[in-house]
Amino acid sequence: MSNNWTEEELKAAVESYVDMHIKEANGIPFIKKQYYHELSARFGRTEKSFEYRMQNISYVYSLLGRGWVSGLKPAKNVGSSNAAIIERLISEVEGQQSLKIAEFETQVLSYKAKNILEKPQGIKEPEKMYSSVTTYVRDPKVKAWILKHANGYCECCDNKASFITAEGEPFLEVHHLRRLADGGSDTISNTLALCPNCHREMHYGADKLNLVQSMYDKIGRLVRE
Ligand SMILES: [Zn+2]
Ligand SMILES: [Zn+2]
Repeated sequence: MSNNWTEEELKAAVESYVDMHIKEANGIPFIKKQYYHELSARFGRTEKSFEYRMQNISYVYSLLGRGWVSGLKPAKNVGSSNAAIIERLISEVEGQQSLKIAEFETQVLSYKAKNILEKPQGIKEPEKMYSSVTTYVRDPKVKAWILKHANGYCECCDNKASFITAEGEPFLEVHHLRRLADGGSDTISNTLALCPNCHREMHYGADKLNLVQSMYDKIGRLVRE
């Protein structure tokens, strides 16, 4: 990803992306090529270059553990400074505060890729960062029903919960297949009980799209929203 994209161009690309992401989440049809065409006409770059930029934006979504616009496979050649800018722009467009997750994770990856990485000193007293995060009011009965129904077993791998909590409950996490942030419902047809491994894989796995599909195929109560 070259550095000579202006903030204005990046912002326009992110605005288009967020728009497509919302449309897809709500089942509203759209044509990706039309977005590239408009951006291309506005900024005088090729449609292809905007498509690639969209794939960089998918990569940032993927680092955030979110789903990306289908067909726009994440392209990781984005660099931590651009990832940071894209993350900030996504937050701005969505009206959220950026938690700088993609910025941190791209830095981790680039340090990890170095041949020699000396033992870091770390930070003795990490600085505090206050943030406001949007959360959703959920129905405790839904979580209770899902956990009761799962009966201590992960609904993905069918293994027994790997530990018992201090409160004496088998530890399982309740996951929303269509994220609440994407307009998903808090209902038993959109949620399932997962072990921490399967849960993380559902968010971050290379094959997460197939994994999600396999849940809809396997569990009869789930309905694609
Ligand atoms: Zn599992
Ligand atoms: Zn989840």
